Amino acid sequence: MLSDRNHNTFANNPLDRLAQRRTDAAWLAERLSNTSSLIVPLWQLKPLIVVAKEKDAPSAIGWLRPGFVRDLVPDDALQVFLGVKDDVAYFAADASAIEDPKQHGSLAATGKFIELRSIAPDLTSGDAAILAQAKSLIDWHQRHSFCSVCGHGSDVEDGGYKRVCRQCSQEHFPRTDPVMIALVVKGEECLLGRGAEWPEAMYSALAGFIEPGETIEEAVRREVLEEVGVEVSTVRYVTSQPWPYPSSLMIACIAQAQTQAISLDDHELADAKWVSRTEVIDLLKGEGDGTTWLPPPMAVAHQLIKHWVYEGGGG
Ligand SMILES: [Zn+2]
Repeated sequence: MLSDRNHNTFANNPLDRLAQRRTDAAWLAERLSNTSSLIVPLWQLKPLIVVAKEKDAPSAIGWLRPGFVRDLVPDDALQVFLGVKDDVAYFAADASAIEDPKQHGSLAATGKFIELRSIAPDLTSGDAAILAQAKSLIDWHQRHSFCSVCGHGSDVEDGGYKRVCRQCSQEHFPRTDPVMIALVVKGEECLLGRGAEWPEAMYSALAGFIEPGETIEEAVRREVLEEVGVEVSTVRYVTSQPWPYPSSLMIACIAQAQTQAISLDDHELADAKWVSRTEVIDLLKGEGDGTTWLPPPMAVAHQLIKHWVYEGGGG
């Protein structure tokens, strides 16, 4: 493990999700109008952010009071329950119906709608995690307003953690897609690949969706063999990261290679190469020769590589 506490961006959500209260419609309605409650609006999936005025100070979520939100969004706008902390209930609202937030004086004075990926490094870990939850949930609702069984419209229930079809009563639940990400290692070397669509020189651990009926370990062995033709033996789980684009869970592992010859699947990867631990240390320090860049600290791949280098993970 990296440590007992998960340090990945979007982890460590400080809210108590209070799942047992989600089915209590009266309680939710009371909380949604209670003046102590706080609601973050998302406009086109971008959360409202109060940008820090001072350098090095964190930016913050632009929480609004229920009365403000009522004036801002239509009555039927989606509002999802995020959780409770210190007896304050937290919600997220889809404010995409606002035509142009910049023209909305009091809103513009509060903050700006900013894409989560670009602002996440400037937020506290708790705020980034809350917004990952809010964004993934609202994104799911926007894509799932119709029943996948009969095609009729569905209604939001349980504070946003369920939709129920109006015609056939089928229940639908927000999805999370597991993705494995593996650093393949052999002795003092690790295997890094460059995605076909990535910026020149950007290299990372190998990743892919876990398929139905597959374990994490089987997915790692299959993806690594498919992408680079390397056979893997032991696979060891290291850490995980919620990744709200739109709703993945990155499951990071160290995988021991049995073979080293690379046979590239050029539909998936533009390049792959073995890199020594010494070279990786230079890259992490920003002292590479410019031909190879690693993902930024926000990406779990960065944390996984650091784990292998500095904590002897899988060595
Ligand atoms: Zn249906």
